[in-house]
Amino acid sequence: MFLKGDGRLARQQARANVECRLLGTNSPVPTHAAQKDPMNVDGPLLVVSPHLDDAVLSCGLLLASHPAATVCTIFTSAPEADMITDWDRASGFAGAFEAMRARRTEDVRALSALRASPIHLPFCDAQYLSSPSREALVAALRATFVEVKPATVLFPLGLFHSDHTMASDACLAALRSFKDPAAYAYEDLPYRNIPGVIQERLATMLEQRIKVSPADMADAGTHAPHQQLKQAALGRYASQLRAFGPEGRAALDSPERYWLFRAANESGSRRD
Ligand SMILES: [Zn+2]
Repeated sequence: MFLKGDGRLARQQARANVECRLLGTNSPVPTHAAQKDPMNVDGPLLVVSPHLDDAVLSCGLLLASHPAATVCTIFTSAPEADMITDWDRASGFAGAFEAMRARRTEDVRALSALRASPIHLPFCDAQYLSSPSREALVAALRATFVEVKPATVLFPLGLFHSDHTMASDACLAALRSFKDPAAYAYEDLPYRNIPGVIQERLATMLEQRIKVSPADMADAGTHAPHQQLKQAALGRYASQLRAFGPEGRAALDSPERYWLFRAANESGSRRD
């Protein structure tokens, strides 16, 4: 039963359908093959995840190779009134309350496979039509940075989906208050398979005088035990894998890619 916003939900589903058709595409990524800066992930690692699965989808190998990380997921709360969306229905749930309760449990179990610790921020996924303000997100992320004291922060490049872009922009804003952590943006899987989205996002960042360079995760992505750990963690997001379907799941089996946003101890948040 739709309680509100049927039209918007229909549009979201239409977009999701487009995404699913695109997930199987094998588009070239033209800008990540050049010389790369080696990733330097020392000390406490914090991964910022828009939804309850994104950190493992996009950074699972890196998390597997750096145990004891913290994963802060932003959109983990149910709306005030229960509702049902197409995505939650496709995930096997009867409503948002059940969905978010189950998804938080899935996340705890998935991160335990990687020996990572979860932080769940109390904001609503865009599908529930009560997104937080940018100011609230930035404040919550700043508080998380103070609490975790990370040496390295990984955050979404923000390639697609309003929640991902909002999370990326909020991280960029929050990082301006902290000079110490090295900061890397990760390519959002599976969205980075959509042709042109990486180029569009990097162009937007460049307009804001934010420069990034491709980062080399070295051998973190090649060890079989790490690959097995990532697969084990992914398998614990059973509801989301169900919604992705076979074609979407196949598209998740894709290399992780990172961009150096700011090296540790580099002054300022922009690389001019
Ligand atoms: Zn997501």
